[in-house]
Amino acid sequence: ARKFFVGGNWKCNGTAEEVKKIVTTLNEAEVPSEDVVEVVVSPPFVFLTLVKSLLRSDFHVAAQNCWVRKGGAFTGEISAEMLVNLGIPWVIIGHSERRALLNESNEFVGDKVAYAVSQGVKVIACIGETLEQREPGSTPIAEKVTNWENVVLAYEPVWAIGTGKVATPAQAQEVHCELRKWLNDNVNSEVAASTRIIYGGSVNGANCNELAAQPDVDGFLVGGASLKISDVLSFIVPL
Ligand code: 13P
Repeated sequence: ARKFFVGGNWKCNGTAEEVKKIVTTLNEAEVPSEDVVEVVVSPPFVFLTLVKSLLRSDFHVAAQNCWVRKGGAFTGEISAEMLVNLGIPWVIIGHSERRALLNESNEFVGDKVAYAVSQGVKVIACIGETLEQREPGSTPIAEKVTNWENVVLAYEPVWAIGTGKVATPAQAQEVHCELRKWLNDNVNSEVAASTRIIYGGSVNGANCNELAAQPDVDGFLVGGASLKISDVLSFIVPL
């Protein structure tokens, strides 16, 4: 069985004080063990070490991006090697906000995923909404990644991100099932069976249980609700 995965994507939000408050809430939570649910939070780069130093040891930290190759003269970028050096085990790559606002292409995202994995950083690889976007979005990743053990695929329909319009459980299931079939046909059956496919887009404490009950929904990537003290715990323990 695939272990349930919950990621909190804090995006470009928060002050050090706010970040500490969220971490305190997470630290006090009673949640199932790491063997049952994997919890990862993704603060902005500048708070990564702060969060890592304060966060309970059964929860983990993700960066929100990293550079496509080895570091060097790339002003403003952060390399996968740096994440390894800081002990940051995860990175989100190819989020739709970066694709739309910073023009990250499918090829570029595929190269980033492959490079991060090659350096030993685990990747939450994001892909988009329509069938046309999902398949070309997945292709460079499938072509470039050899070790799928360290990749989680996040399906995030753009119309559901930050809008309050969550996909229905049936809609999410349909797409996740298609993606799993795509992995089966384009990678192999083992990868299709074992890769976590998580859903992102307006997930909150009220809608997460029904989504989590879908057989191909293996977790969530949560934006807004992961920053709300009142909501932050509810979707960690669906079912
Ligand atoms: P919201 O949960 O705020 O809709 O954001 C989803 C998202 O983009 C997570 O990466």
